[in-house]
Amino acid sequence: MNSKLSMLFRAALLALLATGVQAQGFPTKPIIMVVPFAAGGPTDTLGRNLAQSMTKLLKQTVIIENVGGAGGTIGVNRVAKAKNDGYTVLLHHIGMSTAPALYRKLPYSTLEDFEYIGLVADVPMTLIAKGAMPAKDFKDFLTYIKANKDKVTYANAGLGAASHLCGMLFMSAIQTDFTTVPYKGTAPAMNDILGGQVDMMCDQTTNTTGQIKNGKVKVYGVTSKVRVPSLKDIPTLQEQGLKGFEVAVWHGIYAPKGTPKPALDALVAALQSALKDANVKLRLADLGTEPVAQDRATPEALKAHLKAEIDKWGPVIKKAGQYAD
Ligand code: ASP
Repeated sequence: MNSKLSMLFRAALLALLATGVQAQGFPTKPIIMVVPFAAGGPTDTLGRNLAQSMTKLLKQTVIIENVGGAGGTIGVNRVAKAKNDGYTVLLHHIGMSTAPALYRKLPYSTLEDFEYIGLVADVPMTLIAKGAMPAKDFKDFLTYIKANKDKVTYANAGLGAASHLCGMLFMSAIQTDFTTVPYKGTAPAMNDILGGQVDMMCDQTTNTTGQIKNGKVKVYGVTSKVRVPSLKDIPTLQEQGLKGFEVAVWHGIYAPKGTPKPALDALVAALQSALKDANVKLRLADLGTEPVAQDRATPEALKAHLKAEIDKWGPVIKKAGQYAD
């Protein structure tokens, strides 16, 4: 090897070693977890509980950054384009799998632009309405909203949000359309439900349980197949006649494509440890949910689930004919 070549070789080797050492020392600074919806909502609540616990193992703060808008796709795009050094991750839900069918053009590739960390939790949803809604039960509610379909409004977190999907399925199940009002997340939507500016919404128990228990909103059913233990007096929508109606909002954590393996491994370990944390489990149980089993909090499980969900929702959404450019 001539001397110029050998110098180049040594420089390349040193650069390679430096990257390895840096990745092994991961993390050396705070990590940003992008939540693609407004602060105070269900995805944010899940993210903050996780972040607090992941911080303990990583010994670096996991900071939540709320990047809401366009049903979560603005936040997803932010992470797709972020530096792939392990210091930016995304916490997103079922919307990761519905957006490819809902949007004609997405500024990112759902299956090509991300590394997978793991599944987090499956959260049931609740069908709620403003406190002044006159209907006393689901049957009354159906009669009321059908009779008033031209003035009843449905709040959601934009096209691609779980609240959008649930509303779309509900409207199709009862064959009645309502005017939808999009927000940057269901935290601001809940404020308007509480203020009576919008009439109804379907949202995760992580956002609605407190308001249901305080009697601040009316609740007409849960979207899970079986009742939710922390809300056991509330019947499922299936029990009340909506055959096969089921929405479970699964969540996963992703990193930009090309994030180094040692950083991904550290993040997987932190996720798995957070999901075993007794405080996290207790808090999630109060909010009507529980962490996934450890074998689902893995990159392989998230990747397989995302693909299966894209295949599941694509035809349903095409049939419903809902699109955005
Ligand atoms: N629950 C919201 C949704 O509709 C998202 C959020 O605000 O966390 O997807």
